[in-house]
Amino acid sequence: MLCVDVAINLPIKNLFRQYTYMVPDEFSFLDVGWRCVVSFGNQIVEGFVVGRVPAPAAMDKLKPVQQVLGTEPWFDQEMLSTAKWLAEYYMCSLAEAMRLFVPGRTSVKMKEKTVLAYTITESGRSALAEGDNRAKAQMLALEILAGSQTALTANELASKKVSQAILRALAEKGQVAVSEKRILRDSYANKVGTDETLSLTDEQQHAVDRITNSLTERKADIYLLRGITGSGKTEVYLRVTAEALQANKQVLILVPEIALTAQLVDRFKARFGGQIAVAHSKLSRNERGDVWYRMRNGEARILIGVRSAVFAPFQNLGLIVIDEEHETSYKQEERPNYDARMVAAQRCKNAKAVLVLGSATPSLETYYHAQKGDYQELVLSKRPLGQPLPQVEIVDMRQELADKNYGVLSRKLKRELQNLVQGDEQAIVLLNRRGYSTFVMCRDCGYTVVCDHCAVAMVYHTAGNNLRCHYCGKTLPVPQECPQCHSKRIKYFGTGTQKAEEELGTVEGLNPLRMDQDSTRAKFAHEEIMSEFKSGKYNALVGTQMVAKGHDIPRVTLVGILSADSSLRLPDYRAGERTFDLLTQATGRAGRGSKPGKVIFQTYEAQSNVMQQAAKQDYKTFAALELQNRKEYRYPPFCQMLKLTVLDRDEQNGINLADRLVNFLRTKENAENNIEIMGPFPALVGKVRDYYRFNVLVKGEDLSSVKAQIMQSEFKDLRNIYFDVDPASII
Ligand code: ADP
Ligand code: ZN
Ligand code: ZN
Repeated sequence: MLCVDVAINLPIKNLFRQYTYMVPDEFSFLDVGWRCVVSFGNQIVEGFVVGRVPAPAAMDKLKPVQQVLGTEPWFDQEMLSTAKWLAEYYMCSLAEAMRLFVPGRTSVKMKEKTVLAYTITESGRSALAEGDNRAKAQMLALEILAGSQTALTANELASKKVSQAILRALAEKGQVAVSEKRILRDSYANKVGTDETLSLTDEQQHAVDRITNSLTERKADIYLLRGITGSGKTEVYLRVTAEALQANKQVLILVPEIALTAQLVDRFKARFGGQIAVAHSKLSRNERGDVWYRMRNGEARILIGVRSAVFAPFQNLGLIVIDEEHETSYKQEERPNYDARMVAAQRCKNAKAVLVLGSATPSLETYYHAQKGDYQELVLSKRPLGQPLPQVEIVDMRQELADKNYGVLSRKLKRELQNLVQGDEQAIVLLNRRGYSTFVMCRDCGYTVVCDHCAVAMVYHTAGNNLRCHYCGKTLPVPQECPQCHSKRIKYFGTGTQKAEEELGTVEGLNPLRMDQDSTRAKFAHEEIMSEFKSGKYNALVGTQMVAKGHDIPRVTLVGILSADSSLRLPDYRAGERTFDLLTQATGRAGRGSKPGKVIFQTYEAQSNVMQQAAKQDYKTFAALELQNRKEYRYPPFCQMLKLTVLDRDEQNGINLADRLVNFLRTKENAENNIEIMGPFPALVGKVRDYYRFNVLVKGEDLSSVKAQIMQSEFKDLRNIYFDVDPASII
């Protein structure tokens, strides 16, 4: 008797176990990769077959597999080995990893939207061959059905003048067969963009040639396409996609957020039409199921989607493109904390597919790989029509204060806005809110309190009214005056956005449109705001980070960035990188049309490396300096990091558990392997929904042995410890 090991698709207590079930004869084909239905406890649940096993001695205790889902295994070899890798790398169970690959989380059977559809039967064909002059309408219906390759729905037939009554009559005579046809939902189905034919620049052509070469040779090469904003990266994606299709392959395009990349979707639609499926984060579970189904059965050949689309099933994957690869949204911030870029690389390796990572400001990890030669770098250094990059001017806000301008807008930005109102041009004003309220800064000289061991800003804690380093735990009292210039105007940074909006309103003729979290909740809200702005009814767009990204609006000639440095002092080693990205992206919005752009950074840290290099849009210099820093202080990419978070309703229990974890990890062996254990520290947000949170950080060149130690310990089964491998933020 055949038995199988099944991973249960449920968030159950004993996640890491698999369970053995007996296979009834009718399912004897069952093998690794199938989805099935089994009873578990008193529930009927979905399971994934992970192995065929010999029947154990106590056979009679085994329950049978009840159902088999689908008509073929859902997991092919490539998906299975990716899932296994993911479980091990990200420290989760195989069931949790596999669950990412199936549409619809825990539902036993995906609800399919179906309609009745009709096909002609053998008896229908003979009736048609014989002919019947008294039943012209029925003959016409049979003729239409005979000429169709697929089943036709009542709607499709109605448009050809075949009524329901006729279909019923034919069905009764057995001349047509009625079945259910699955309807595929596609929110984007009716959106068609416009296409243009461009002749490639030399740099674009070179990039396309190199990538095409890897496609043809079926090499699992990884490319970094580093192109300045507006250099035509999308056109490269389009061309290599066409090449992959030519080679009969499927293509996955990952984007940070669909709403922010409407233009990219439109351009793909315009070029490849109905071969595209789109999976954004606001799709219903059923819609997502449909999208995946279209990829699996080959009906769609290009999938454009957000992070989770990296788990879609393919028939024949040839290429994955990750646009804006530096974006943090590729990292899942909940269990399992996977990084879509890593998963994509793994899938490409297993499928012998090509991976293209595109960005103007690559993550330093990616850039470092390219420097070492693990990835191949392709550079687009110019805009195709030779438009110059915008001119950036840094306004030192300390000087504004010295000159008694206590407003949020600098005099320079105000003047530029006034000029703009005269012409037929538009401005974007970015309120850099990221990082507010958390650090202490002198308003007069820009001094911030930085930990002298760790080179990160210390964080203000209301609880103790003190400053704390989130890396080493050092605390300091909040200074009463600036240690550098003795000004009393040293305080935690936090106000201003409201004031900024008010002040913009006072510029005569300026008609600002706001975009923020609240105004963009709905499915297409972001696009609607963008198209309102594009239409020209407003001459300024004001908002947080999201105004900085993705879009291409020719009439925008001015970009103002308020508190350009507020993200710089986030207590995170990536603060400089994030700030550089944001400034570069925002800068790239200006001057995309015929008129050159102008950008103003308002900052208290005019001299900082990040501000200076971002103003020159000099990624290479920035990255070289930043990598040096990372090496010196031993941060990724020069080491790996693991964040362990303990949650407990009881503060002392939480501390005790975190201490136990730290003691468990502080072994001689780990010390010899140069593995640092830091903490526990209270998390930046120390208590969430009544749970206290404590972080333990692990740092080392290779953490696989530490991961294994944890996964073989009691800690693996504790539900209140979270493992975050390669954490996006360590606070
Ligand atoms: P990126 O994604 O690199 O920021 P885009 O792909 O959005 O840049 O391209 C910017 C603009 O340049 C688009 O309007 C695009 O149509 C145009 N473009 C791209 N390639 C060419 C080309 N070879 N010739 C002319 N225009 C081009
Ligand atoms: Zn000072
Ligand atoms: Zn420190």
